[in-house]
Amino acid sequence: MSDPKGSCRRLPVSTATDLAACPFCASINLGFYEHVYAKHFAVICNLCGAEGPSRPTREEAGTMWNRRVHE
Ligand SMILES: [Zn+2]
Repeated sequence: MSDPKGSCRRLPVSTATDLAACPFCASINLGFYEHVYAKHFAVICNLCGAEGPSRPTREEAGTMWNRRVHE
C-alpha cells in the first residue's frame, strides 16, 4: 500500500498510550499521524481533525495531547 501524500500516514490507535478525549469535540476516536520524513508524531482526532503537538515519539505526542486537554 503506497501513501498518495507520501509524507504522513495514520497509525491505529491501538498502539497508543492512554489518550484523553478530544478537547474540541469530546471524541475518543483518536489516532496518530506519523510524519515519516520529518520523523515526528502527532495525535489526531478522527472526528473533527484536530491535531495535537508534534513530538519525536508517540509517547511524547500523547503526553502533550493530554496536557493540552487538561489545561
Ligand atoms: Zn475532535
